[in-house]
Amino acid sequence: METPFDKINDPIGLRVAAGLSRLALALKTNAQQGAAPHGLSPTQSQILALLRNQAEGMRPSLLAQSLAIKAPAMTEALQPLLARGLAVQSPDPQDGRAKRIAITDAGFALLATIADWPDALLQTVAELPPQEQAIFYRVILKMIRQMQVSGMITPGRLCITCTHFRPNAHADAETPHHCALVNAPFGDRHLRLDCPEQQPAAPDAAEAAWLTFLNAPPPSLPI
Ligand code: SF4
Repeated sequence: METPFDKINDPIGLRVAAGLSRLALALKTNAQQGAAPHGLSPTQSQILALLRNQAEGMRPSLLAQSLAIKAPAMTEALQPLLARGLAVQSPDPQDGRAKRIAITDAGFALLATIADWPDALLQTVAELPPQEQAIFYRVILKMIRQMQVSGMITPGRLCITCTHFRPNAHADAETPHHCALVNAPFGDRHLRLDCPEQQPAAPDAAEAAWLTFLNAPPPSLPI
């Protein structure tokens, strides 16, 4: 049934995009406020945060993949970190031609003083009911995948593009997917954004898995 709101409101797609823009702006402002006083960009503070748990360091290509940014942007972001001694570069023990980046003690010390802006985001999300979180996560994954396909962001290490991912392989609505690597079922809420074991599927296989994933009914939510 049509209501007066159908005429006075922008289409829902526009309002979703506007809402996302508003969230993105708030996150960017928070990230800048946390990092800027320390002479870091939000990307640089995210790099240090990622390296914090990687004692052996990470290749720049993997860092770029994890943060879904392009290689030149990663190179540019890393240079000041290396120059300031917040991170260090060394040959990759597994491939002498490749480099690894690791956080230094100075990087750890600086990271500890940066306001932990993602905490605020975490709190906001934590206030959503679990069912809404699951649906939101599924929508985010779909948007990330679409942005990867259109080249807006670099491919990350997502389950939904992994060669081990078997979407909708099980009848159980809670855990319909299967990871062939660990040979275990899992649900939408378990889908990983940055899995170290991820192996990109061939384009045709990734597309087929994607279409199967899209056909999975999302968790129901009363409106
Ligand atoms: S290996 Fe990792 S990315 Fe691939 S399906 Fe399993 S959990 Fe997901």
